[in-house]
Amino acid sequence: MEILYRSTRGGETGVPASKAILNGLASDSGLYVPENMPNPDVQFKDLVGKPYTEVAYEVMSRFLTDFTEDELRNCIKNAYDEKFDTPEIAPLRKTGENTYFLELFHGATIAFKDMALSILPHLLTTAAKKNKVTDEIVILTATSGDTGKAALAGFADVPGTKIVVFYPKYGVSPVQEKQMVTQKGSNTCVVGITGNFDDAQTAVKKMFADHAMAEKLSEAGFRFSSANSINIGRLVPQIAYYVWAYVKLLENGTVSDGEKINIVVPTGNFGNILAAYYAKEIGLPVHKLICASNENKVLYDFFRTGKYDRRREFILTSSPSMDILISSNLERLIYSILGNDAEACAEKMKSLREEGYYEITEEQKEKLSDFCGYFCDMENTKKAIASLYSKEKYVIDTHTAVAADVYGRYRAETGDDRPAVIASTASPFKFTRSVIEALESVREMPGDIANMDDFDLADLLSEISGVPVPGAVEEIRTAPILHKKVVDAGDMPQAVYDFLGIQK
Ligand SMILES: *Cc1c(COP(=O)(O)O)cnc(C)c1O
Repeated sequence: MEILYRSTRGGETGVPASKAILNGLASDSGLYVPENMPNPDVQFKDLVGKPYTEVAYEVMSRFLTDFTEDELRNCIKNAYDEKFDTPEIAPLRKTGENTYFLELFHGATIAFKDMALSILPHLLTTAAKKNKVTDEIVILTATSGDTGKAALAGFADVPGTKIVVFYPKYGVSPVQEKQMVTQKGSNTCVVGITGNFDDAQTAVKKMFADHAMAEKLSEAGFRFSSANSINIGRLVPQIAYYVWAYVKLLENGTVSDGEKINIVVPTGNFGNILAAYYAKEIGLPVHKLICASNENKVLYDFFRTGKYDRRREFILTSSPSMDILISSNLERLIYSILGNDAEACAEKMKSLREEGYYEITEEQKEKLSDFCGYFCDMENTKKAIASLYSKEKYVIDTHTAVAADVYGRYRAETGDDRPAVIASTASPFKFTRSVIEALESVREMPGDIANMDDFDLADLLSEISGVPVPGAVEEIRTAPILHKKVVDAGDMPQAVYDFLGIQK
């Protein structure tokens, strides 16, 4: 069954997967969605005992139908290899009754974005070849921390690609900055900017829309592409791990074939939970998709009231990767609950852009019954970390803690205690200071943690959790700084020209 893609805003239809991946965003600024959902002819129970790469192939091949078997298997093999610190790739960890953490942080940068960004470069270069694109692909990314490093790690030394990452020089954590400025690979370029993340993001979007710049790049044999989470090349690999988690639950006898589970996802841009929804759409037995937000609870309000309203204060929390007021991937769900009506979807997005909000009808809201939304504040995030550690000696990061707290709330409110999978999106070693501060309430700490640097804290966390300091942290402890450039946001295009060796 061939799957083609169309824009949520109606401007493009019948687009093959490889083209959708190359383009990233549709030309009308809509997002690509499958015109039909695949109907897999494979039984989930037949995947029991298969390695991660095999499950990934079974899922991804149903969505990326214009890739040959060889092409896709090659992409998968090059992505899910020794870069991950466990051959399971995404282990499932049981804690307490019917609660399972799906650990998605065993890749190169110890956050779940590695699950998609380790394969996207291979999908992109394969897609370029299939479409006879000979230009070298230049990935432009603005980052508030996690995406930048995961994209750098994914694209470093991949032939046919270059990557430029802009980050706010004074707006990321010391570990995040060090992760980026020590990045190896002759095709990588990391530039600090003197403004904030929004300045970086706005300037990157401007470069994508700059025809004169595209022209100049094309003359020199380059073209821009995007690695951010609206690319279906990031979404499709994420569907695979929800199927994988179910197969693991079948394997250990927690569920019988066809028995429904709940899935809990700490959410920001709505990419990860949308992948779980697509897994459900292709037949994964899922009861509820539980959307966990931090204090930036636009999605919680949306699921409760049917009104999406970004006109509110932006709150900096201890789960920064979820500090988002515009969840881009929600557009794909909106398109679906509007009955695949692109015109209506485009209208809602216009209202969001121009008025800052949109509303859906009561009838449309009923179609959201697969989802429910809850949120967790910073105090309860800390409590969730402390409580799980006390009970199970298991340490989770702040993002995962938001989901753990929310799941507790859902279960208490509904009494629904069927098996649940909680997406664990980052290693606690990535947000060490917040995690140690949370553990202070249940454990003596040696000395004054306020005066310890992030690497000392990592050693302490290792002692507390019994988990070795991950390679990703260990390797930046002493790594030389390779990227030192800092520019004003206005000079970002020049930095790109300089890196590519193009005379202005
Ligand atoms: C990006 C990120 C999220 C949010 O995921 P979305 O797909 O944007 O909803 C949650 N946790 C961590 C650690 C992240 O890096």
